[in-house]
Amino acid sequence: MKIKSIVFGVCIMLISAQSGCTANESAEKSHDIWAVHDMNRPQPPIVTPAEQPGQPPSNAVVLFDGKNLSQWLCQKDGGPAKWKVENGYMEVVGGTGNICTKQPFGNCQLHIEWAAPEQVKGSSQGRGNSGIFLMNNYEVQVLDSYENVTYPDGQAAALYGQYPPLFNACRKPGQWQSYDIIFHRPQFGKDGKVISPGRITILHNGVVVQDNVDIQGTTAHKKRAEYHQHPDKLPIALQDHGNPVRYRNIWLIELP
Ligand code: MG
Repeated sequence: MKIKSIVFGVCIMLISAQSGCTANESAEKSHDIWAVHDMNRPQPPIVTPAEQPGQPPSNAVVLFDGKNLSQWLCQKDGGPAKWKVENGYMEVVGGTGNICTKQPFGNCQLHIEWAAPEQVKGSSQGRGNSGIFLMNNYEVQVLDSYENVTYPDGQAAALYGQYPPLFNACRKPGQWQSYDIIFHRPQFGKDGKVISPGRITILHNGVVVQDNVDIQGTTAHKKRAEYHQHPDKLPIALQDHGNPVRYRNIWLIELP
């Protein structure tokens, strides 16, 4: 019985890997195979959580720990990232361009903290604008949305041009804020058409503001998003929108 269960488990993993089915589908399939409370079912890998909430657990890839931009590149030319690093944060240097991770990622949990400039300048989209591009394609908006009205699908924690956040959980300019993002990449067929759209959940300062929404396509400005086929993993990019937005404590867990 034990060997049978293990063989079943391995088969399910192989079938999942070959068919490219999602983690949820795999979970549902394996649900049919395993007996309830089957002790032969594989145990989840052990992770050591961080001492403090918001800090990286043992299975995280640390993308920025406040010291340097060694995990990042200038997106334009592939050279070293040119943003400023001081006092444990990085800061956008306007005109130097977006930066992106050296490593590509697909499905992930991403923790990132940011602060809009304390000195308020500009309004609407001109105030504390930056952004987090998952897989270089899907922008989670960073904006000073504290008492700053703009189009709802372009405010802080919007999936830009697609979904306004459910709530405006923005802190005052200059204060540190967090995004915790759970992202599942889109899946494309051999013909390049979307089999299943990407999905995203976002917590802004601990408040759910995007609740597992279907991503409509690559972020676009003033037009409907459309999908363009891309690899299973791509870098994460941070936007230079000309405003000196700061980032710190960036880490990620790759999801199966
Ligand atoms: Mg932006």
